[in-house]
Amino acid sequence: MSSNSGIQIPSRLPLLLTHEGVLLPGSTMRISVETARNMHLVKNRLLKGTSLKSTIIGVIPNTRDPEHDTEDLPTLHSIGTAGLAVQVVGSNWPKPHYTLLITGLCRFRVAQLLKEGPFPVAEVEQLDKLEQYTSPEEMSEAAGPEGELGELSKRFYQAAVQLVGMLDMSVPVVAKLRRLLDSLPRETLPDVLASMIHTSNKEKLQVLDAVSLEERFKKTLPLLTRQIEGLKLLQKTRKLRPDDNKRASRSSGAEVFVRDWSNVLAVRKGGVLPGHQFSLDEEGEDEDGDDTAVLERKVKGANMPQPALRVCLKELKRLKKMPQSMPEYALTRNYLDLMVELPWSKSTTDCLDIHAARVLLDSDHYAMEKLKRRVLEYLAVRQLKSTLKGPILCFVGPPGVGKTSVGRSIARTLGREFHRIALGGVCDQSDIRGHRRTYVGSMPGRIINGLKTVGVNNPVFLLDEVDKLGKSLQGDPASALLEVLDPEQNHSFTDHYLNVAFDLSQVLFIATANSTATIPPALLDRMEVLQVQGYTQEEKVEIAHRHLIPHQLEQHGLTPQQLQIPQDTTQDIISKYTREAGVRSLERKIGAICRAVAVKVAEGHTVTKSEAAPAESTPQGAEHGEGKRGRRGEEPDGVSADMAAPPDMPIVIDHIALKDILGPHVFEMEVSERLTLPGVAVGLAWTPLGGEIMFVEASRMEGEGQLTLTGQLGDVMKESAHLAMSWLRSNAKTYQLTNMVGGSDPLEGTDIHLHFPAGAVTKDGPSAGVTMVTVLASLFSGRLVRSDVAMTGEITLRGLVLPVGGIKDKVLAAHRAGVKRVIIPKRNEKDLEEIPANVRVELDFVTASNLDEVLNAAFDGGFPGMSNPLTLPHIVSKL
Ligand code: ADP
Repeated sequence: MSSNSGIQIPSRLPLLLTHEGVLLPGSTMRISVETARNMHLVKNRLLKGTSLKSTIIGVIPNTRDPEHDTEDLPTLHSIGTAGLAVQVVGSNWPKPHYTLLITGLCRFRVAQLLKEGPFPVAEVEQLDKLEQYTSPEEMSEAAGPEGELGELSKRFYQAAVQLVGMLDMSVPVVAKLRRLLDSLPRETLPDVLASMIHTSNKEKLQVLDAVSLEERFKKTLPLLTRQIEGLKLLQKTRKLRPDDNKRASRSSGAEVFVRDWSNVLAVRKGGVLPGHQFSLDEEGEDEDGDDTAVLERKVKGANMPQPALRVCLKELKRLKKMPQSMPEYALTRNYLDLMVELPWSKSTTDCLDIHAARVLLDSDHYAMEKLKRRVLEYLAVRQLKSTLKGPILCFVGPPGVGKTSVGRSIARTLGREFHRIALGGVCDQSDIRGHRRTYVGSMPGRIINGLKTVGVNNPVFLLDEVDKLGKSLQGDPASALLEVLDPEQNHSFTDHYLNVAFDLSQVLFIATANSTATIPPALLDRMEVLQVQGYTQEEKVEIAHRHLIPHQLEQHGLTPQQLQIPQDTTQDIISKYTREAGVRSLERKIGAICRAVAVKVAEGHTVTKSEAAPAESTPQGAEHGEGKRGRRGEEPDGVSADMAAPPDMPIVIDHIALKDILGPHVFEMEVSERLTLPGVAVGLAWTPLGGEIMFVEASRMEGEGQLTLTGQLGDVMKESAHLAMSWLRSNAKTYQLTNMVGGSDPLEGTDIHLHFPAGAVTKDGPSAGVTMVTVLASLFSGRLVRSDVAMTGEITLRGLVLPVGGIKDKVLAAHRAGVKRVIIPKRNEKDLEEIPANVRVELDFVTASNLDEVLNAAFDGGFPGMSNPLTLPHIVSKL
């Protein structure tokens, strides 16, 4: 076990300059880190490093007056102590700082300063031999120092024994101290004792500077003797006043001495040897005793179930026996604090009134009738059965369609607390279920944390983005969620950190996702999926005026008397600045307008009136159009009279103001502009973010009949492309298609390139089949596809058109993009019912059961070769 080869500290050490006293080898010290230099050191070395080496730093007493400590590095004291950072605790209050618990290992001399910033690093020379721990038996075998040094060390040891002997031996820790004193190598005694007895920093600095052992003994011995004399005096006074015994002993140097001893020895042995289980006396000391007594009262008053209470009391007992400086003390304390804070039996009372719930849901959300109906049914059943066992609701839909906000409304209707748990990107199951307490930095999982935050055991938990859960080596969070969501199991959910069961059965869970495709099947199985679709332009305008604008006005401290956004402007924002299924970027744009107006209002200026301004609010002499625009940017000079609108005049956002604030239009390219050449058509795609239009392009060049596909396509899409090509080749004669040299096989002597723009997004699925046929037919025939048509549908080799999914989202996307005619598979006709009437009125729907019908509808005047090219029997009449 023992080894004579000393332990080497790293030859380069980062230096921590401290005003807080002198760290001596063999003792432990708490250092508060506040200066920028030291904060950098902690952040870059201690918190980032992973090896034991990276937790060794050099501690140098900073002799410069703290008041005058500036940015530049002071002259370094040449000798310091290499220390092992045992614990790092950070806090932001009252200002950002860290507290380090550092154990001194050995002295070093600064040989050369290698760099100064952001924290100093120096080449160092180790001065003390650092031995591994040696047992007392082995020590006695080793020959002690000879001559004067031997004599000195003997006298020192005897004085130390005398000092310990003067303490109350009935206290168990003192007996242990006595034994441990024997077990320490003699040469370490001066440092260890000097750091515990009453000494000034100046004296400690002298001990630090005493590099030679002999000098160190000589410097410390008088200090030790002084302490002994002091104790003697104290004992004498105590004899004189026996009543004060107890109080005197508490405040005496002896008491402090014992406490310090226990710290030093515990840390010297890595804090894990039996030595750390000291207790000063049965009651513990005053301050700490009070603290734990308060905690004990809290534990007993927390109303926790028996198993949890038992664990807490056990931990409390352990805590009482631990010295506060032990890292484990903080861990146990945090654990107990959490246990008493958890709402074991605190809950809110549900106040569900279905009628009121309906009114509230309606007033919070416009449209989304189907979802609101289902939520009410769900709540009604909860009310009748007064239990929560049942499917977990999962709202699935594009971002910004109000999933989270409906969840929040449900909590409001029930009078429950609401808490959102974002699961996007979570790939470690300890995020859900906590870390075991054996890990450094272990924490409870998000469920338990959420309960602590809301402070009741029956909140509404919104599990946001369950489809974005990841998987990693640290386990599968989805399987941890299974336990949370299963009503049969969740009454005894065990977080690894708590290690006792918590009853989650009263929590109402609601999940949200963008798509069900990536939700793990087992999880999906426990949930009832409610689709939330994107909004139409008209619905968005309504939502904006009923909810988003009032909300944003309030958020920005504005009133409708200060800012008005007319409907036309909202429509412009929706069509020219956003292209989304939900209303999130619409809300952001409205927010941007509010900010711009807030600046004007705060400055006391007013953006002048507009054409759209209500007549009664137009100030006299107001000008319109360009004149107004010219003035807006000017300083209030000659025209300032016009600028000074009446104070109660609202700022009305017209299209000019809109452009000023939001910049040029983001989405302006009309579909018709893209379709000016043969070989381009508009397809409709569905993504988790809603429907989208997609331009499919084709071109041909001389070659050997190769088909090239680009744009990140999946396998199914590639197959569709080949199907489309084969079908056209086999029907080339009927449709009078030709290749580049006039032959009837479109591929002869020709290479074809099909491209699906937005190449960074992977696209897959069969629904672009009809679009590809149309694009190729256009390319081979040289005819333009109608500029106002978009299409979707799967194809077969024989030219049939099969149904596809996501019709509502796709049609809404087409409508947003200004398309007038939409070609869909015949068997999707039933899906048109879901489309709001106002959208249906503005679109022609062509339902096609075969490709003849598709081509006929996609080209002006039908397609040559068609049996009856000029009639379109399948247009669904406008409603
Ligand atoms: P999601 O969770 O679906 O991504 P949010 O619930 O966060 O979307 O909604 C984004 C914003 O849009 C919220 O401010 C919400 O109030 C608003 N919103 C969405 N849909 C509606 C609606 N139908 N009526 C009123 N406001 C809505």
